[in-house]
Amino acid sequence: MKEHLYIHGACYESSSGESFETINPANGKVIAHVDQASEHDVEKAIQSAEKGFKVWSSMTAVERGRILLKAVALLRERNNEIAALEVIDSGKPLQEANSVDIHSGADVIEYYAGLVPALQGTQQDLDSNTFYMSKREPLGVCVGIGAWNYPIQIACWKSAACLAAGNSMVFKPSEETPLSVIKLAEIYTEAGMPPGVFNVVQGDFRVGQLLTRHPRVAKVSFTGESSTGKKVMTDASGTLKEVTLELGGKSPLIIFEDADIDNAVSGALLANFYTQGEVCTNGTRVYVHSKIYDQFLKKAAIRSKKIKLGDPMNIDTQMGALISSKQLDKVMIYIDKARESGARLIVGGSRHNSKETENGFFVEPTIFADCKDDSEHVIDEIFGPVMSVLSFDNEDEVIRRANNTKFGLAAGVFTKNINRAHRVINQLEAGICWINSWGDSPAEMPVGGYKESGIGRENGPETLKSYTQIKSVFVRLDNIDSPY
Ligand code: NAD
Repeated sequence: MKEHLYIHGACYESSSGESFETINPANGKVIAHVDQASEHDVEKAIQSAEKGFKVWSSMTAVERGRILLKAVALLRERNNEIAALEVIDSGKPLQEANSVDIHSGADVIEYYAGLVPALQGTQQDLDSNTFYMSKREPLGVCVGIGAWNYPIQIACWKSAACLAAGNSMVFKPSEETPLSVIKLAEIYTEAGMPPGVFNVVQGDFRVGQLLTRHPRVAKVSFTGESSTGKKVMTDASGTLKEVTLELGGKSPLIIFEDADIDNAVSGALLANFYTQGEVCTNGTRVYVHSKIYDQFLKKAAIRSKKIKLGDPMNIDTQMGALISSKQLDKVMIYIDKARESGARLIVGGSRHNSKETENGFFVEPTIFADCKDDSEHVIDEIFGPVMSVLSFDNEDEVIRRANNTKFGLAAGVFTKNINRAHRVINQLEAGICWINSWGDSPAEMPVGGYKESGIGRENGPETLKSYTQIKSVFVRLDNIDSPY
């Protein structure tokens, strides 16, 4: 299979003569050869997006919303086909991709399609002869750069607010998962979106750099590692672009002694093993009160051992393969480091090896107990199915320890005491917080990080505004009082 770029409403063959392979993480086989975009292709994509922007931004918000809603219907109609593609490209289980990835992407497009006609400017009288008004105008050509863990969802989330507000977008998916975003581009075209409004360029960091440094790009919305986010921000500063950065995390999940223990275990398992642990918001530092520590570990171990790991295309499989052999090696190094730190291995700790998984990048769901705050596996983002459990005795202590990280993406609390839940959440340094839950991310709720987990937000009403700029217009009805 050959995969190309998507520019001006059609498939576009790169001029670079260079291509890269995308691999099925479940069996290591090559799925497709994908064009690497050249500088010339990037320029083509930007020029096309400038043309698309002219047409799209002159349409009314209701007209744009109508086209976006058609795309939503097509996404839902093709859910199973896109989910299957996502599974072979990313290694995640079909039971997740079928029910979450495309639906949650479509939900956000639907949300902004409905919200954008209600976006208004303001008018304020200043005195009887003057007033000012403000208009919200789109920014122009924006860039989206995606990570590999939720490829189509990230493309939907980034394009939704951007396009609804009247901008155009050039999107670069991760080179690890380049396939599903082409389906989104085709769907946008089929729904009636003018050519150039959503273009796709493929390739590695070189293409990312060409986009973030491009002088005619107004904004970059990036999802990826914190270290890459810093490079993107530096590159974007050369032309003073706006940036939204959705970055990594090492989020704390705090379980108090009065929590419903089974719900808390459910939360902790979801927070560590969903999508093989490759979720940015994962609650990988699980602080459990000493009074229920042993009970928690026992229950978590029993349920983790039952997780069905294997061929992700099998609808019964609950945990699939890590994205690449490089990621597998990284996760195994952290598991070794955890062992060396003296942490107690409760479950897993090995590469999964069966006839079904021997050629793929599978790691068993892994739980370490008695972890120490200063161990590397507790400090660093691993991005794999490795839960670190730590014991605590009181509220102030656990808040201090939970906040002792450079990251600030997510945090959660399990307790039946609603006063305590809010008191603790109010003191946690994180952009996305859950009380007695983990991982929910409805379109209405803004998501993004504090500290080195990011800048700006996705989803929710504010994000739509972040894809607009305010034009203030002062109006005088009487004569100007001039000294000249
Ligand atoms: P990554 O930083 O390696 O790559 C992300 C994207 O950036 C890729 O498309 C890559 O090609 C591109 N890129 C690499 N170098 C670049 C450069 N110098 N300039 C421009 N683009 C460049 O991240 P990844 O390994 O693909 O994804 C995993 C990371 O993403 C984790 O840290 C995870 O926490 C984070 N993530 C965050 C969120 C969130 O919403 N906060 C969501 C998903 C993933």
